[in-house]
Amino acid sequence: MKFKADMCGYCGACVGVCPAHVLLLDSMQITILEGCTECKNCVLVCPLGAMQDEN
Ligand code: SF4
Ligand code: SF4
Repeated sequence: MKFKADMCGYCGACVGVCPAHVLLLDSMQITILEGCTECKNCVLVCPLGAMQDEN
């Protein structure tokens, strides 16, 4: 996953739908931990297109 900080509204929606629990929202910063399964839930749920499939 590629995270576009300039497009993010920090709503937290992606964090809530990540089955691998690798997304962290902390004081206007999204961190992607190791272990992403590329399920694309975050891409689908993001209302602003800030999560993008790298491939
Ligand atoms: S769902 Fe999109 S806008 Fe909301 S915190 Fe995640 S990346 Fe940012
Ligand atoms: S693609 Fe799936 S596993 Fe990876 S960060 Fe997004 S929701 Fe989490």
